[in-house]
Amino acid sequence: MKEIYWPQLLRALTIPKAATALQSLASYQISRWRKKEHLWGAPFVAHIEPTNTCDLACPQCDTGAGRSTRAKGFMPLELYRTIIERNARHLIYLILYDQGEPTLHPDYIEMIRIAKRHRLYVVCSSNGQRLADADYARELVHSGLDVLMLSADGITQESYGAYRRGGSLEKVKTAMALVNEMRLRLHRRTPHIQVQFVVMRHNEHELEDAENTLTAWGADRVLFKSPYVRSAAAAAELLPSEPRYRRYGIEEGRLRTLGIRRGSCPRLWYSLVVHWDGHVVPCCFDKDDSYILGQATQPLREIWHNQAFSDFRTRLLHQQWPELCGNCSNGLKIYPT
Ligand code: SF4
Repeated sequence: MKEIYWPQLLRALTIPKAATALQSLASYQISRWRKKEHLWGAPFVAHIEPTNTCDLACPQCDTGAGRSTRAKGFMPLELYRTIIERNARHLIYLILYDQGEPTLHPDYIEMIRIAKRHRLYVVCSSNGQRLADADYARELVHSGLDVLMLSADGITQESYGAYRRGGSLEKVKTAMALVNEMRLRLHRRTPHIQVQFVVMRHNEHELEDAENTLTAWGADRVLFKSPYVRSAAAAAELLPSEPRYRRYGIEEGRLRTLGIRRGSCPRLWYSLVVHWDGHVVPCCFDKDDSYILGQATQPLREIWHNQAFSDFRTRLLHQQWPELCGNCSNGLKIYPT
């Protein structure tokens, strides 16, 4: 919730959409209580993946490390347009990225414009490399994007580049300056610039200065995040010493997520993910299409109500967690204060 920019999110709300969202959330609570799936309303949050390609090589990212088994590609603009037009009636919150760097999509700005024409709250998360270009930054501000999340896990190139391999901190800094300049020029308050600083062993010595430095460079908000890692070996290498930013423990040589208490998974009652090729999967932790629940050429509401999705929800209601849930951040404080 920390990353939500409420003034813009409230603008995307209409009474019918709010009513649909309340129905969905109520059906989750009742399902949890009865241990039986009840489903009302419609999904009001969608992640759409413009592309699963990336220009950096971050080691714990499946895309950056080349571990992903999915074919690489870019969502056709017509498929995207169909998804938005068909589903905008119940969608409120559009997360316009998943795996990969979304700004590499040649129609990314147009994708934002389409969603904004349908009054959705739109969030982009980017490594910022493409944005260090005045024309692109102007178009991005013009597009009406609500939130721009930028990754900057360091305030020197040395600490930043240790994880964001192939990335330039100078470009991230330029991107922030350009977006700020364009916002001023165009008299806009958006996109709200949120810088995400993943706290790791090699950059935690910069924690004290990071907020002031990143704010001076143009961030509206700086969020310090605990790192996601895939293995006990990576945890040993990357986790910082500060306990607040360690979401894992290691037991008998295996990675274990700390402090997780789950009744079930609320996300399955309000959101879904669409990969670039239209495959619909339950959540962003399904990085390799392990559970394809439908194809987004169909209305999302229909997929959300289909048997495959229902079976998946029921499985989690009965605490039968699939492997992908083992490293999920759902229910964790990933942005400790
Ligand atoms: S990984 Fe599992 S618990 Fe986490 S959001 Fe996905 S389905 Fe829910």
